[in-house]
Amino acid sequence: MPDLPVDMAQLTQHLAKINALSPDTSGQNRLVYSPGWVAAQRQLLAWGQELGLTVTLDDYGTVYLDLVGRVQPETIIATGSHMDTVVQGGPLDGLYGVLGGLQALLTLKQALGQPKKTLRVIAFSEEEGSRFPTTFSGSKHYARIEDTTGLKDKDGLDFDSARTAAVAQLAGPDIQRTLPKLPATFTELHIEQGPRLAAAKAQIGLVAAIVGQRRYTVTVTGVANHAGTTPMAQRQDAFQATVQFINRLFLLAQSLSPDLTFTVGELALTPNTVNVIPGKVVFTVDCRHTDTTVLDNFETLMGNTAALLSHDPLTISVSRWAKIPPVQLDQQLLAQNANLADQLQLSHLTLASGAGHDSQIMTQVTPTTMIFVPSIKGISHAPQEATATPDLLAGVQLLTASLYRQAY
Ligand SMILES: [Zn+2]
Repeated sequence: MPDLPVDMAQLTQHLAKINALSPDTSGQNRLVYSPGWVAAQRQLLAWGQELGLTVTLDDYGTVYLDLVGRVQPETIIATGSHMDTVVQGGPLDGLYGVLGGLQALLTLKQALGQPKKTLRVIAFSEEEGSRFPTTFSGSKHYARIEDTTGLKDKDGLDFDSARTAAVAQLAGPDIQRTLPKLPATFTELHIEQGPRLAAAKAQIGLVAAIVGQRRYTVTVTGVANHAGTTPMAQRQDAFQATVQFINRLFLLAQSLSPDLTFTVGELALTPNTVNVIPGKVVFTVDCRHTDTTVLDNFETLMGNTAALLSHDPLTISVSRWAKIPPVQLDQQLLAQNANLADQLQLSHLTLASGAGHDSQIMTQVTPTTMIFVPSIKGISHAPQEATATPDLLAGVQLLTASLYRQAY
């Protein structure tokens, strides 16, 4: 492999420049189609043009920067991630994959000139689901999987109005307006957003799979009554049943698989007052695992436990409202990246992602792989989100090597 020196100072400058465009509040607030998001995509388009890349914008506001190949221009080797953030998000989630991808492409262009196949950097419009009740709308649109017409944000503004107005601000001369061809492969560089790489002292994570997710609403209905006059033995206390139920679920989740995550993130008591026995409790359950069977088994156990603890007039009902299947990413690309990481003397670990990513959409239409770098203290989706500079560099070095292997 040729020497491919990555200009880390340029990457740092690019990251700082985009992060400075976010409104002056806590953390990054680049919600899709917001003014900060428009400014960021506009900056990326301008860089693409300045750097002599072919620049394309689609109807959802996803930006594509191409270094067109000289032998097989129709074969596209793509990398990238998303431009949007959560509310009060960090400086690296999504953006590192976009600008790290751009840096990898610039490194190759500088060192070796035009590739045989086309290299593409993608900045997907939206992945986080922070504004509209949808996630991955950018990659879903590119993958021709789903559109999102008819959705509204919390202010009642509909997706299409926001989208059309924002994308109109990005259009300009020398910017192609089309939905480009799908790539031959897709590699997403991303921060880990968890503590496992740091714990293993590994610089690189190679992602074998992305967990499946299920979300439920559980409603426990008892009988509200006087907190002082109702004897303990005669209560139908919805919260007491909730505590028992949740405790059993924690233990069942642990016994099924130590990797099965189980989270009660929201809980509401009714009437929620100091001197009334709760008549009703509604709470959410989020569980994730890479194996559908484990998720199925847990769902069955959850239903059985609800039936076991229900006794007239107290009832527990479980309703599932989200079922996202686990996905396996491409094994060949992972093996190639493991090999390249060895050549570059970068320590690496193969792992599953507990968070969703654009890659789980892209893998449905093209061989897809992910490269993780460590998150300091495992923190993300928060302003404190950070990665050590040598690790940021390591991720881009591996991506550069991988793109080189595939496109030159
Ligand atoms: Zn992300």
